Amino acid sequence: MKLQGKIALVTGAGQGIGRGIAELLAEQGADVAVNDISLTAEGTENVVEWIRSKGQRALSVQADVSNRDQVQAMFDKVWRELGPIDILVNNAGIETILPFLEITDEQWTRVTDIDLRGPWLCSQVFCRRATAEGRTGNIVNIGSVQAAKILPGRTHYAPAKLGIEALTRNMSAEMTPLGIRVNCVHPGFVATNMTSWIMEDPEILKNVVAQISVGRPGVPRDIANVVAFLASEDSSYVTGQSLHVDGGWIYK
Ligand code: NAP
Repeated sequence: MKLQGKIALVTGAGQGIGRGIAELLAEQGADVAVNDISLTAEGTENVVEWIRSKGQRALSVQADVSNRDQVQAMFDKVWRELGPIDILVNNAGIETILPFLEITDEQWTRVTDIDLRGPWLCSQVFCRRATAEGRTGNIVNIGSVQAAKILPGRTHYAPAKLGIEALTRNMSAEMTPLGIRVNCVHPGFVATNMTSWIMEDPEILKNVVAQISVGRPGVPRDIANVVAFLASEDSSYVTGQSLHVDGGWIYK
């Protein structure tokens, strides 16, 4: 229970990696606000119920992480209904696969807005509020193996995810002296809705797994374990870092 008494907000946590992170933070004692863009919020409600069943407080909060008004309202709601946030996990993200020569301005902007500006925006709203109240905090950004590995059709997604690394170390330099550590986890290939097209094609799956030293796809818990470490005092001397959690994919 290393996160006992902490309050966390995890974005994009209605499913997948975000859900895995929200659940593990709760298992380690945190109360958790579960964000998603989904209008029905069915996913987030399921996660909230699961967390409450484990004895922690939880709150479902809808917002598009790339929309400043919605992000502001999200932090207001969590602060009011759950309390001041200690841990922000910027997990929400989208991936599309499009040939470089065909990407439109709108497609570029949508991906970079959610995947890079979203974490910047949520972090700024969080840090402004925390520092104004004299509070400390902790941010973990979710990047991607694609910060270091070229996969076809990602000339919009990969720069956004590599940008998360620069965002992490630059925010860390400004915010750590004020008591807010900032780190980043780059997931490899993790079985979620985002990668279902790989999981459902035995041939593609076999090819991808053959490139992973550990010999299997990741699961959300693999990522959550490292996020929970970075969010805890066990990592109190770690900041500005980006860690690949990819089963050795980029090094095989
Ligand atoms: P996922 O299963 O698609 O879950 C992502 C969640 O984020 C969805 O519930 C989605 O809602 C939500 N979301 C999308 N846009 C949002 C927005 N603007 N505001 C708030 N929530 C939003 O994806 P995942 O695989 O868990 O990925 C989570 C993170 O890990 C992403 O940042 C992704 O880039 C990164 N990642 C994943 C992998 C992988 O192999 N899975 C690898 C490297 C990095 P809707 O479904 O309703 O749109």
